[in-house]
Amino acid sequence: MTSSSTALSLEFFPPRDTAAQERLVRAAEQCASLSPTYVSVTFGAGGSTREGTLQAVRLLQGLGFDAAPHLSCVGATREHLRDLLTVYREQGVRRLVALRGDLPSGMGGVAGELRYARDLVAFVRQETGDWFHIEVAAYPETHPQATNPEADLGHFVEKMQAGANAAITQYFFNPDAYFDFVERARARGVTAPIVPGVMPITNYSQLQRFSDMCGAEIPRWIRLRLAGFGDDRASIRDFGAEVVTSLCEKLIAGGAPGLHFYTLNSADAVRTVCDRLGVAK
Ligand code: FAD
Repeated sequence: MTSSSTALSLEFFPPRDTAAQERLVRAAEQCASLSPTYVSVTFGAGGSTREGTLQAVRLLQGLGFDAAPHLSCVGATREHLRDLLTVYREQGVRRLVALRGDLPSGMGGVAGELRYARDLVAFVRQETGDWFHIEVAAYPETHPQATNPEADLGHFVEKMQAGANAAITQYFFNPDAYFDFVERARARGVTAPIVPGVMPITNYSQLQRFSDMCGAEIPRWIRLRLAGFGDDRASIRDFGAEVVTSLCEKLIAGGAPGLHFYTLNSADAVRTVCDRLGVAK
């Protein structure tokens, strides 16, 4: 059963230019009536969008949202991270999404002073105590670089033990992968909320690209249906809304503590799903 009490959070990315900034503001304003608990802003690995993340956080705070920057440790020094934490504290930020991140290709030699997200979480706690509510990433279908699912789960548990408050998952389309992961995490003593990350479906080639990069599986039946629509974007959107709404219904019915939407800076698909779920105010 869905209800208007389902906690929602929304993820945006930093705009690159004025037109993209206007799109972000429009999307965020259109999502305001969903009353998200918080919105988050991604952080490009390797330093490319550090300023962009901060600016987008300020913009979203200005629109009245509790805005959480993503923070990655790959390629970063402790000193740089310390400075950034200070800036975020001064900006009134109380929530972070702490990640290892990925190095852009061609930056093989600059891994950074902290190796894993676990180390970043411990560093943030050491530097700032309980100031920040820390979210970390979880991978129901296993992180693509993990040696095996058990080892990956063990590393997730370490990340939580280092001081994370909650987790957001990579997106997936098979709810059983999520429920299985949550069960295994609970068996290992993790009690914190594990919120499913939800990717709306609006563009098949983009979804394929993202999924290849992050290791999310698009089930065969969904791939074949999407491929069958060819360039018919309206049918892709309709089918996508149906699939994602059904997924969310199953997640909520199965006890998911909330939904975290990857908005891709567009409100339409997220709003459609939330309207159908009855979680839009
Ligand atoms: P970690 O938890 O450090 O894990 C990375 C890998 O190392 C895993 O395979 C894990 O099993 C392994 N590992 C962990 N600890 C150890 C250990 N002690 N010994 C050996 N192996 C270990 N990327 C960005 O660049 N910017 C973003 O804004 C961003 N936002 C994201 C938001 C969400 C909700 C999610 C799910 C992902 C996001 N990512 C982002 C992608 C993320 O940075 C990548 O998936 C990255 O490859 C792993 O980051 P992590 O924090 O999960 O790493």
